[in-house]
Amino acid sequence: MHEFALVRSMLVQVAAIVADQGGQEAEEIRLRCGAFAGVDPTLLAAAFEMLRPGTAWERTRLRIEVDPLELRCDACGESFRPDQFRFVCIHCGSPRVRELSGDQVIIESIVVAAPANADASTHEEGES
Ligand SMILES: [Zn+2]
Repeated sequence: MHEFALVRSMLVQVAAIVADQGGQEAEEIRLRCGAFAGVDPTLLAAAFEMLRPGTAWERTRLRIEVDPLELRCDACGESFRPDQFRFVCIHCGSPRVRELSGDQVIIESIVVAAPANADASTHEEGES
């Protein structure tokens, strides 16, 4: 299950970003998982659940958004989302297409949790 390796390397990146912002843990991690990345979002979430006990990520929410496959045609220059995984341009029928997005897993955003000793009075419970 390569999702474990993926989650581990993702958390290394997240830890670096969180530390960079002076935080200690992330409140939320948003991932974009390409529909064609060869990664199952369910397994990704499961791997995260199994890895996080006893770590800094115990209270972190993981949100995974599936990114549809997007292709670009080299012949006519159009980009499009194929209905199925057919690597043929829907505009001109050329097979000279390549993946624009949808073939990788990327960290979309991270919400860094405020340090526990921060002034909590400025925090408003306004979002819903
Ligand atoms: Zn085309």
